[in-house]
Amino acid sequence: MPKLSALAREMQPGLQEQVLTYEPLSRHTTWRLGGPADLLARPRSREELDYCLAFARLKGLPLHIMGNGSNILVRDGGVRGLVVQTREWRQITVQDRVLQAAAGTMLPRLLQVASEHGLGGLEFAAGIPATIGGAVVMNAGTPAGYLGERVAGVEILDPDGNRKILARQEVTFSYRHSSLRQAGIVVAVSLELEPGDPASIRERVAAQLSCRRDRQPLEWPNAGSVFKNPPGYYAGQLIEAVGAKGWRVGGAEVALKHANFIINRGEATAADVLALIARVQEAVASQLGVNLELEIEVWGEGL
Ligand SMILES: Cc1cc2nc3c(=O)[nH]c(=O)nc-3n(C[C@H](O)[C@H](O)[C@H](O)COP(=O)(O)OP(=O)(O)OC[C@H]3O[C@@H](n4cnc5c(N)ncnc54)[C@H](O)[C@@H]3O)c2cc1C
Repeated sequence: MPKLSALAREMQPGLQEQVLTYEPLSRHTTWRLGGPADLLARPRSREELDYCLAFARLKGLPLHIMGNGSNILVRDGGVRGLVVQTREWRQITVQDRVLQAAAGTMLPRLLQVASEHGLGGLEFAAGIPATIGGAVVMNAGTPAGYLGERVAGVEILDPDGNRKILARQEVTFSYRHSSLRQAGIVVAVSLELEPGDPASIRERVAAQLSCRRDRQPLEWPNAGSVFKNPPGYYAGQLIEAVGAKGWRVGGAEVALKHANFIINRGEATAADVLALIARVQEAVASQLGVNLELEIEVWGEGL
């Protein structure tokens, strides 16, 4: 492989934002930990996004799409190849009750625009720190709703770089999963919302945010729920039942406020988080006979 700095220089003319080399992904994930990306590109438009994918294909670089990095644990050795972070590609258009958003648009901004237009139905998502691309691919949600319920259509680039518009019925959504994962890279999403009173929508958003502040350890870097809820259980309750709240490995801690959150007390490494995850899984399996599956995604290599 050519030197990374040479690759970055070659890629640069197609992008407004600087192409970064050996960029610590701790700067780009909500857990604030993890090793470097060989190359990190931040496209600002559909054309720049296309360009990044074409460049990766041309150079045979492993490609990783990152939204807000709020569901990713990057291992300490970092990620080989090209990380494309979509957060700079943001745009929202509203037509009647349909809101169309570029992949990197953040959910809080979407909620704000929706409420300004008197469009409701997304309030359950208030406080999820995600891009719309990441949220739809992951089918992010809460017991009150999930993104897939609001999707009217999705524009993707398939693995060969062809643009496709998928109608709602062409995409399947299940618990923290969608068929978009295999289909390609999400470029833009259309959501169909419901007309409502702007003040009531804002109130529901505020109530949801306050509920999260009360229940979640938002004062520390984290990645939301670490484990999926196994059928018939809440992961947090199982973890609490084995007495794991407050368990620590290095700088990683099972949060006292919410047992399904692992917080970074400031100096955690990915190895700390993974060791703590293994300890919790082992305790829950041996004491309660339930296997906890990861909701977060693990990227990259160890040291
Ligand atoms: C405080 C906090 C609270 C949270 N609360 C919730 C919650 O209530 N419910 C919930 O479901 N989640 C929650 N999460 C987890 C997280 O926000 C969601 O999983 C979210 O969907 C991740 O979005 P993202 O943009 O950060 O994606 P990332 O974490 O950057 O990526 C997640 C996955 O999506 C893929 N991806 C991202 N963008 C694209 C794209 N454009 N095209 C194709 N693939 C893409 C990535 O490759 C990766 O596989 C929470 C996280 C935090 C930190």
